[in-house]
Amino acid sequence: MARRRDVRTLAVVPPAVDILTLGPLATNCYLVRADRAAEEAIVVDPSGAATEIRRGLESLGARCVAILVTHGHFDHVLGLADLAEETGAVVHAPAGERALVEHPDRYAPPGLPLRPWTPDILLEGGERLELAGLALDVIAVPGHSPAHLAFATAGSVLSGDVLFAGSVGRTDLPGGDWPTLLASIRTLRDALPPDTVVYPGHGPATTLAAELARNPFLADLRAESHEVAR
Ligand SMILES: [Zn+2]
Repeated sequence: MARRRDVRTLAVVPPAVDILTLGPLATNCYLVRADRAAEEAIVVDPSGAATEIRRGLESLGARCVAILVTHGHFDHVLGLADLAEETGAVVHAPAGERALVEHPDRYAPPGLPLRPWTPDILLEGGERLELAGLALDVIAVPGHSPAHLAFATAGSVLSGDVLFAGSVGRTDLPGGDWPTLLASIRTLRDALPPDTVVYPGHGPATTLAAELARNPFLADLRAESHEVAR
């Protein structure tokens, strides 16, 4: 008799995404689960007090099993050390921004309760993670910061400070570069379906299609698609 293979259930339907907007720059922290009943959650960008994030998880009846960091800017990692310490969750962060995650106060205004934390797993982009019943593709999207990552899963992308509803990430901070950021947005366009929901680091969710159609910063990308269509 053939041995029964282990079947791992990975979500192919859109994940349950809950948003907490935290910290001095109103940065989105995402609680992502395979579905509304799931007890395991991933926390993307712990951007404020860990107590608030834990309260959010408790209200969902969920526990944090992994923490993903899109990039090392202080407003995205404010609660990282406390949350990782309190939950024991495995921390995934961009390899190229490890120094920033370990010294988050480097470009931060004084007085914030930032503590260094050493990530458990360093990512480059191109990996596939299986966490909390979700399969997440890691996409390298530099330009706002030098080794910025996006995490795509089942019709959604958690994109940090690359693309916002009606705007894009700033490129005037250390390691920022506008042509590189535009190339990263092109990467997202080419890798993901147009109806992909974009969960950005600041502001409301949007879709790739909506931004590609109307975002004033993406006129160059629109021009390219017209050239292809012609
Ligand atoms: Zn940032």
